[in-house]
Amino acid sequence: MIKIYNTLTRKKEEFKSIEKGKVRMYVCGPTVYNYIHIGNGRSAVAFDTIRRYFEYRGYIVNYVSNFTDVDDKIIRRSHELGVSAKEVADRYITAFEEDTKALNIKPASHHPRVVDYMSDIIDFVQSLIDKDYAYVIDGDVYYRTRKFKNYGHLSDQSIDELEIGASQRTGKEQERKEDPLDFALWKNAKKDEISWPSPWGKGRPGWHIECSVMSTKLLGETLDIHGGGQDLEFPHHENEIAQSEAKTGHPFVNYWMHNGYVTIGNEDEKMSKSLGNFVTVHDIVKERDPQVVRFFLSTTQYRRPLRYSQKNLDEAASNLQHLRNTYGNAQFRLKDAEHQLADDKSRIREIGRLKESFTSVMDDDFNVANGITVVYDLAKWLNRYGTKKQVSRTVLTSALNQFTDWLEIFGVNFENNLLDEEVDQMIGERNVARKNKDFARSDEIRDLLKGQGIILEDTPQGTRWKRQ
Ligand SMILES: [Zn+2]
Repeated sequence: MIKIYNTLTRKKEEFKSIEKGKVRMYVCGPTVYNYIHIGNGRSAVAFDTIRRYFEYRGYIVNYVSNFTDVDDKIIRRSHELGVSAKEVADRYITAFEEDTKALNIKPASHHPRVVDYMSDIIDFVQSLIDKDYAYVIDGDVYYRTRKFKNYGHLSDQSIDELEIGASQRTGKEQERKEDPLDFALWKNAKKDEISWPSPWGKGRPGWHIECSVMSTKLLGETLDIHGGGQDLEFPHHENEIAQSEAKTGHPFVNYWMHNGYVTIGNEDEKMSKSLGNFVTVHDIVKERDPQVVRFFLSTTQYRRPLRYSQKNLDEAASNLQHLRNTYGNAQFRLKDAEHQLADDKSRIREIGRLKESFTSVMDDDFNVANGITVVYDLAKWLNRYGTKKQVSRTVLTSALNQFTDWLEIFGVNFENNLLDEEVDQMIGERNVARKNKDFARSDEIRDLLKGQGIILEDTPQGTRWKRQ
């Protein structure tokens, strides 16, 4: 039984899906005007890990994550670069796909873009106007926040507290609204801005409406899970609830999940572009093994803050190396393991117990930190039995399958993992080629190894190698 900490109720609750065996999940995606920063990467990894765990537990997950491709920041960026807003969005969607592929994040079942949902957005806004939840002023459409009774529930704030906060904001826009709390559903087009025709004149949608429209369109009026970064809780998710529930009259989301912040170095500052302390995934995966970055991001429980530092990445690298070696060595022993042994039954029981504890800690709000500890326990088991001829091939195979299934949840796979012995063998072959002055072959072997993350160093004492 999976338990989820639901931001809406501030409690861990037993997960019950709307449809048996299926999960309808929506996660807010990036605004595509730049490379994603490590905070976006963390959110994408956290929810990918959660999705993979649901799949491990036998669920079919319909996973939707949007691209915000119409936005002030994109328009600003398009003016800076002198290209169209569409070109900016296309460029950074491609970059997003490359970066998330490097981190072994599975593509969503759907990646909707705002530009493809314009008529649905217009219909949605119109129905809010028809229900008196929205009003038009000179081509702008605003949501009448006070009319929605549950406003503030998700972020646990009263409407009056929010009113005080909102009334401190000043400016033209604030003055024309009926109430400072009201937010824009549709914005009248300014000069030189990308726009679409609508019943209220040319304009474009506000940010919040796209998620209400695309999630309900693709997943139905009620979702099982809606996720996103903690910073989206208010106002973005609060507004999504107000829009969706006012329109459909049904609960919008059963379980709200929010991932914690990424902090950098020693300061507990939230990562953001405005603070100027952001690190892009694009840059990180050029410098570090992307599998290490993925492993680092997926082994902290999603709600906890995550500290990004070289030291923590180094630690993740050595832990991952240990798991890689364990896998490689156990696989090597498979070849000459006995088919069956007398104590197979007790070994199988040991693996069964580890499996039970893995499921029980992961079921508890996806506690990956405890989950990975059980993976290390299995690694210990593999190193104890797998390295000697104390375990049969049948049992070792089942333990290795267990090991790779678990690591798959953390986005790690060892498909191209060369064993130490295989590396040594290839180096031996390369030495022969060099002796015979067959440098083409020798270079080829060096490149082959490099492709597998193995770096060679030729010294007077012979060739040394290390993993990247
Ligand atoms: Zn959203």
